[in-house]
Amino acid sequence: MLEQKTISRQVKLNVQIGRGRYGEVWVGKWFDKEVAVKKFAFCDKESWTREREIYETDMLRNEYILTYLAADMYEREFSSCLEMWMVTDFHEHGSLFDYLNQYSLSEYHMIKFARTTASGLAFLHMDLRTRDSVKPCIAHRDIKSRNILVKSDLACCIADFGLAVRHDTVKNLIDIAPNSKQGTKRYMSPEVLGETINIDDFTSFKNSDIYSLGLVLWEILRRCLVDGECLEYQLPYHERVPGDPSIAEMKTLVVDEKYRPEIKKRWVDSSEACSAMASIIEECWSPLPEARLNARRVEKNFSDVDVKRPPYS
Ligand code: ADP
Ligand code: MG
Ligand code: MG
Repeated sequence: MLEQKTISRQVKLNVQIGRGRYGEVWVGKWFDKEVAVKKFAFCDKESWTREREIYETDMLRNEYILTYLAADMYEREFSSCLEMWMVTDFHEHGSLFDYLNQYSLSEYHMIKFARTTASGLAFLHMDLRTRDSVKPCIAHRDIKSRNILVKSDLACCIADFGLAVRHDTVKNLIDIAPNSKQGTKRYMSPEVLGETINIDDFTSFKNSDIYSLGLVLWEILRRCLVDGECLEYQLPYHERVPGDPSIAEMKTLVVDEKYRPEIKKRWVDSSEACSAMASIIEECWSPLPEARLNARRVEKNFSDVDVKRPPYS
């Protein structure tokens, strides 16, 4: 492992590829390897610290979780400004949001996106024990298409752990004081919007991630080609709320009206894969958190969908 504070000197930044809520994401070269560098603004030190703690959790490595390489904090020369970096694998396709905006999907790739995302989430949610090490259960708390990346083989991986919480199952302790209203308003679960979430029970956070996963799966489903056609990309609830909805607007819609994004009859009638996808989605966004599927079940249900790989892909 390279010593801290040397990485930022070794990485050559090329171009800026993204901008999140607080920072910038760049693509760069670390020796021969192409890497992504997320730079955090100083005001977001908390999120850098948290994301780093999560990535440095024992046994977190998984093909459907973004691969972390290093974190670094250093003082810029000639100024007292602190810069915080997070270095990870770079994925050329960018986020699932970017990908879905550009491309439609075959049934095969729709199921692959859905299954690999659910598998990454299932891995995150579960605990793992070996003789000398424990991987705690982790809830993400900001699942959305912008926080999922598309790899070159068109598998997805989960990224952006700035809001995640860990649970020690033996001591039954959550590792930070969880604020009940975290995340992106559009994707907040009914229990987060309505403040009915039981923050003393870690399962509540997992159930809340599953609701958000349901919305992401719906975004994927819209882009699947059925008889050569698909719908244009849209964010969930696009037809009912403005670009940056308030919590009050989301609460009226999702909690009071129990409104959910539309599942087109055409998808269910003409494609077995889309029909399976639709029923899984409906079990993810149930108003009752305990009625939702768990992530491992979602993954298994997708593994059971029989879709043929299209030729030349
Ligand atoms: P924030 O915490 O500021 O939201 P994210 O980690 O979500 O930052 O990254 C913001 C955006 O940058 C993502 O939506 C994606 O478009 C892009 N991005 C982030 N990491 C990578 C990566 N490793 N490879 C490719 N694009 C990335
Ligand atoms: Mg993000
Ligand atoms: Mg973040």
